[in-house]
Amino acid sequence: MNELKDQKDLSLWIEIDVSALEHNFKQAKNFLNSNTNILAVVKADGYGAGAVELAKVFSKLGVNYLGVDTLDEGLELRRYGINTPILLFLPLTNEEISLAILNNLTITISNKNIINKIIEEGKRLRSKVKIHLKVETGLNNSGLKPEEAITLANEISKCPYLELEGIYTHLSSPKDSNRSNEQFIKFKKVLERLKDNNIDIPLKHICNSYAFLFYPEMHLNMVRLGTLLYGQFPLGIKNYKIDLKDCWKLKAKIINIWKVEKGTPIGYGGEYITKKSTYLGLLSIGYSHGLGLTPIARPKSIKDLSKFIAKAILSYLKFYSLEESVILEGRKIPIVGRIGMQYSIIEFGDIIPKIGDIVEINIHRSIVNSRIPHLYIYNGKPYKLRTIDGRYIDINIS
Ligand SMILES: *Cc1c(COP(=O)(O)O)cnc(C)c1O
Repeated sequence: MNELKDQKDLSLWIEIDVSALEHNFKQAKNFLNSNTNILAVVKADGYGAGAVELAKVFSKLGVNYLGVDTLDEGLELRRYGINTPILLFLPLTNEEISLAILNNLTITISNKNIINKIIEEGKRLRSKVKIHLKVETGLNNSGLKPEEAITLANEISKCPYLELEGIYTHLSSPKDSNRSNEQFIKFKKVLERLKDNNIDIPLKHICNSYAFLFYPEMHLNMVRLGTLLYGQFPLGIKNYKIDLKDCWKLKAKIINIWKVEKGTPIGYGGEYITKKSTYLGLLSIGYSHGLGLTPIARPKSIKDLSKFIAKAILSYLKFYSLEESVILEGRKIPIVGRIGMQYSIIEFGDIIPKIGDIVEINIHRSIVNSRIPHLYIYNGKPYKLRTIDGRYIDINIS
C-alpha cells in the first residue's frame, strides 16, 4: 500500500514541540533540590500530547518516574519499550493484578482489601511487587485512612513479596493554602508515626504542578508534574517563578474556499446568515474531534448560576459567542454556522487565503479526539508522526 509519509499528506493534526517539553522539564528540575525526584504524569494520553512519545522524551531527559491512571495506560508504555518506573494512580481490581506485576508496574494501594491478592500473585509470580500507599487526607477520592496506612505499612515491610517503595497523598484544592496545609500536616503525621515504627519508605510525595510552584516546603523527595511540563500554568495562574513554553497546537489546512453574497444561509439548518459578501473556507475538523464542545462545570453558587444564565442568553441573542475561532497568520477568524461531525466553516471577510493555508485552532485540549494525527517536532523540524490508527512513522529530516 502507498502510505502516508508526513504532514504534507494531512489536513488536520496536533503539533507537539518536543523542544518546549525539554525546556519545561529543565525549568522544573532547576527549581527543585537536586535530591528531589520528578514523576512526569502522562495519563490521558499525555494530556492529549501522546503518552508514548512523551514518556520516551521524559525518560531520555532523566525523569525518575512516570504516572498514569490505569493498567492499560501502563501496558501501552511497556509495549513501546519504556523501562522507566511507572506508577498506576487508580486502584486495580483483583483480575488486573497479575498483568501489572508481570509488566513491572508500581501499584497504588488505596484499599486494604486488595493486599492479600497482591501478596498471593507476587508469590505465584515469584516477584517483588512495588507498592505506593495512598493516604486519604482530604480529597476523598479513595485512599487509606492514616490508621490503615500505618497497619498496612507494618504488614508490607515484613512481606518478602512486596517492596514498600512510596507513600503519597493528593491535594483537593491546591489554591486554598489553608486546606492544603491541613492535608500536608495530616500526611506528615503519618510519616512521623512510620518513623517511630522504624519503617523507612523511600519515596514520599504530595505535590502536583500548583503545589510544586506555590508550596516548595511540600516537595519532599518527589513531585508529580503534569500541566506544567506541557507548558501551561495550573489553575489559570499566569507566569510565576519559572518560564514555560506551550508544547501543543492543533492545526488544519484550508481544504476549500468559496465566495457568497450577503444574506446567504450557511451550513446545517441555515443558522448563520452572512452579513455581507464574503469568503468562506472549509476545515476538516468537527464536533467529533471536540470542536465546539466545552466542558461545562455545574454552577456552584448563585453568582456562578447568574453568570451561566447571562452567557446563555447573550449567546442566544448572538451578542456573545461560545464558539471557537481559528488563527490565520495572527488574525482571528470566526467559525460560522453549525459545526459538522467532521467539518466546519470559517468566514474570512475580505482576506482571501489560499487552499492549503494552515490555521491554528483554539480548542479545549483535554477533550480533543485522540485519533487526530500527532506530529512531533524538534527545533522546528518534524521527526515523527503518530497516525490516526496509532502507528508511529519516522519522518526523514532532510
Ligand atoms: C493528574 C495528577 C497529577 C498531576 O497534576 P497536574 O496539576 O497536572 O500537575 C498529580 N498527581 C495525581 C495523583 C494525578 O492524578
